Amino acid sequence: ASSTRKRKIVVLGSRSVGKSSLVIQFIENHFVEAYHPTIENTFSKAVVYKGVEYDCDIVDTAGQDEYSILNSKHAIGVHGYVFVYSIASRRSFDMVKIIYDKIIDFCGKNEIPCVIVGAKCDLQSSRQVQPEEAEEFAKTKQAAWVETSAKNNINVGRVFELCLAEIEKSSPHNQAN
Ligand code: GDP
Repeated sequence: ASSTRKRKIVVLGSRSVGKSSLVIQFIENHFVEAYHPTIENTFSKAVVYKGVEYDCDIVDTAGQDEYSILNSKHAIGVHGYVFVYSIASRRSFDMVKIIYDKIIDFCGKNEIPCVIVGAKCDLQSSRQVQPEEAEEFAKTKQAAWVETSAKNNINVGRVFELCLAEIEKSSPHNQAN
């Protein structure tokens, strides 16, 4: 019998960029129009990726800004991160850079397994962040990057597959816990 690998993934980003919608779409396969913005919630989902079974705990945070102080809940026992901005908000992309630096500082590492996510990619006519720019930023951080739409269910599962892949890359022998 193969063992299940436990993975804790924390979802960070400005408020209202679509973090909860992304997580809910992934966990429950539907789009929620309105979701309580101030609640931090942990969801669990079993995922089979590349023949390996993962037991994922996904922490949907309330959202951060430049004044947010990270706590150990956002670092201890965390395997990977999902940093979310909205393609329709330049400010939310700038915030990802700030939050990324905060996490790096907090963890005392040069690199962390993570995925940079450009959410709400259905809002093409309101686009403020070009794909090339975001992809380039991700590259400089050795991070994965993808654009998603929770509304149209585009690339939602891909986010978490990429995150699991980044985690494996960083510690390929980390079989359990
Ligand atoms: P959070 O505060 O980052 O968790 O953001 P929410 O998930 O609560 O979403 C904030 C708002 O953006 C809500 O009104 C959502 O319906 C909307 N939203 C979330 N995802 C998408 C998306 O993929 N496309 C569009 N057009 N709107 C979205």
